[in-house]
Amino acid sequence: MQTTPAVSGLSCTVCGESAALDAQRCPDCGGVLVVEYDAGAVESADDAVPLDEAAAVSLHEGETPLVPVPDLAEELAVASVAVKNEGRNPTGSLADRKFALAVGAAVQQGAERVGTPSTGNGAQSAAAYAARAGIDSKGVVPSRCPFLNKAMVNVHGGDMYVVEGRYPDAVDAFGEGDDEFVSVGPGHPFRVAGATLLALELVTDGAPDAVVHPTGHGETLVGLRQGFELAVEAGLTDSVPRLYAVQPEDCAPIATAIDSGEADPTPVEYPDTIVGPLEVTDPAAGSAAVAAVEATGGDAVAVPDKEILQGAVDGCEMGPEVGATGGTAVAGIRALADDGAFDEDDDVVLVNPVAGSKEADLLRSHLMSQGM
Ligand SMILES: [Zn+2]
Repeated sequence: MQTTPAVSGLSCTVCGESAALDAQRCPDCGGVLVVEYDAGAVESADDAVPLDEAAAVSLHEGETPLVPVPDLAEELAVASVAVKNEGRNPTGSLADRKFALAVGAAVQQGAERVGTPSTGNGAQSAAAYAARAGIDSKGVVPSRCPFLNKAMVNVHGGDMYVVEGRYPDAVDAFGEGDDEFVSVGPGHPFRVAGATLLALELVTDGAPDAVVHPTGHGETLVGLRQGFELAVEAGLTDSVPRLYAVQPEDCAPIATAIDSGEADPTPVEYPDTIVGPLEVTDPAAGSAAVAAVEATGGDAVAVPDKEILQGAVDGCEMGPEVGATGGTAVAGIRALADDGAFDEDDDVVLVNPVAGSKEADLLRSHLMSQGM
């Protein structure tokens, strides 16, 4: 694989074992793998891009704006709040950072077809990057996946399998009767590496004290931890920000584990949240995400759908457009502030993982339910 000089291999977040660059999970314990860097070779955020330019598949993902939201900072009595607007990525979600690398790595392994189960945005992104790389893709999505995602998978020429039911049904169906593809599924080390680059970009933006992230599989939290730790080791910043996971109350396996002091999330049997992208009952990077939150001195919170939708509408009034997924971060920072998580001199970043306009229907029906 054509990696950059700073990359030394893959290592396991659980047992620390090294693994070959084409591994997907730890061969010893099944733990989530991360790309391992030589911090001495990282002089700027760009040095942590794992695949060299010739091997990269890019649609110019990343370099997203960090938008200050002074009204929210005032409401919560913190020094600053800013939204890292990942909705500005090529297909409108944070997933683009991940699939640029995971599809690039698969192409390096000779893949002619990649596949992932997805709540929607991941399938759209995988199809876009596979098309860019000139290979085939398949996305397996649940029937509740938004029309926009399904349509765009088709537009990018991807094979789409719509599975009756919810996301866990799509995960079960993934790979059944069709194994002619390389998986770029959740927990893939190069997907995590996309979030590592997000952390390094936040350091370049000015290193916050805390990051609040709407959480599904947890792989972004794992990458953020690694990226911030790498930045400290490389001397790019002084300390690792506290990471806060926010999940919808009716599907909150990671928040529940953190709240009850358990290392491993228990899968949710009956999920019921309006926030489709976060309806992940059995997170692929759950245990590593719990460890990431705890290692940084952060915390987790679960918030009701009603507060999420109100958070989204309020967020749109105060700052850049956010949908239900980004509204989860707004509801989360409010709940965390109520719990005394922040000091008055804290600079807090909210990650908006999905363009607000991708989830317009949810916000519109929330307004209508209030007679507006
Ligand atoms: Zn391991």
